[in-house]
Amino acid sequence: MKQLILKPGREKSLLRRHPWVFSGAVARVQGNPDTGDTVSVRAADGEFLAWAACSPVSQIRARVWSWDEQETIDAGFLRGRLRRALDARARLIPAGTGDGMRLVHGESDGLPGVIADRYGEVVVLQLLSAGAERWRAEIAAGVRELTGCACVYERSDADVRELEGLPAKSGVLHGALPSSGVEIREHGLAYGVDVAAGHKTGFYLDQRDNRRRIGELARDREVLNCFCYSGGFTLNALAGGAQSVLSVDSSAGALAQAKDNLARNGLDAARAEWQEADVFRYLRTLRDQGRSFDLIVLDPPKFAPTAAFAEKAARGYKDINLLALKLLRSGGLLASFSCSGGISADLFQKILAGAALDAGVDATILGRFAAAADHPVLLSFPEGDYLKGLLVRRG
Ligand code: SAH
Repeated sequence: MKQLILKPGREKSLLRRHPWVFSGAVARVQGNPDTGDTVSVRAADGEFLAWAACSPVSQIRARVWSWDEQETIDAGFLRGRLRRALDARARLIPAGTGDGMRLVHGESDGLPGVIADRYGEVVVLQLLSAGAERWRAEIAAGVRELTGCACVYERSDADVRELEGLPAKSGVLHGALPSSGVEIREHGLAYGVDVAAGHKTGFYLDQRDNRRRIGELARDREVLNCFCYSGGFTLNALAGGAQSVLSVDSSAGALAQAKDNLARNGLDAARAEWQEADVFRYLRTLRDQGRSFDLIVLDPPKFAPTAAFAEKAARGYKDINLLALKLLRSGGLLASFSCSGGISADLFQKILAGAALDAGVDATILGRFAAAADHPVLLSFPEGDYLKGLLVRRG
């Protein structure tokens, strides 16, 4: 019998249904489990706690599949979890929102390490944990059959795979990518999605509703969109009647995709300006040029993957937010995001307060942003609540 026996007292987080077992909590490993094998996790007194996938080299030694001792972890179990995730979305996301959607969001859908994003007829799968990797064939088959999609493409090339001792993998698992490329619609706008080489699985679906909100706020404003990637906020701002949008990203490929997306939607290219630059430096250039804006979006990449990076990340967030607040006209709006799991919403608000203080401006919170509903957060897994944002008005 393959099992992990915990140290006395270390069963507490599992009893609260947190789905991770850290290596430091494990007293003994029995049955010599291989990477991804299912183990029973037991308290020091032998009490059954959970079925979990074992990851011998990771700090997260096991991730829970099920709290039910009667359950068998097999293809049928995974199929049931996938079906539950898909059903939940069918009820949650209003028809007409678009055809890009996160179908499976890892731990919060009871499938640790499994991400599945749907872009029209293509599903992009990310298997990020040893357990997900162990069941890759079953998960891929389940996704294909339950969605009926023509193509399943794997993008298991995120850095976190290394922590699990897994090599990067990407490529077609089923069918073929459409020769004309992948296109989705989202809140009435069309986007080309580079599923083979784009960031994450190709698109930042989590910002869907926040992009629309920015569109609603952009009328007649001069907008600065920092970290624009494929132009999501830019397109919404232009469609919403922005006077102009200056979009900045350090990736030439992202800017090319963004320009292509602008053209796809027949939006006015004369109102769009593009800048390939490092935002940290470029905000200083804009300051030195005496530029100012009515609406600024800051949507940087993850500065703090875990709490251990929080302090360094906090300095980065403060820097760009301080500069952005200075570039805003009085009454202007800042939409500022953090997708760092290691930065809580509370800490993020404190960082913005510090930035406003040092910028010498008054700022008021008008709203809060989170990830869209297809990125649910399991209450017992606060790590799932990674995307937070504030809408702030400069006084
Ligand atoms: N807002 C986008 C997603 C942003 S992702 C959307 O709605 O889709 C973060 C982006 O920041 C990526 O495109 C990445 O290329 C870019 N980036 C990362 N570091 C940067 C830096 N220092 N300066 C400018 N862009 C950067």
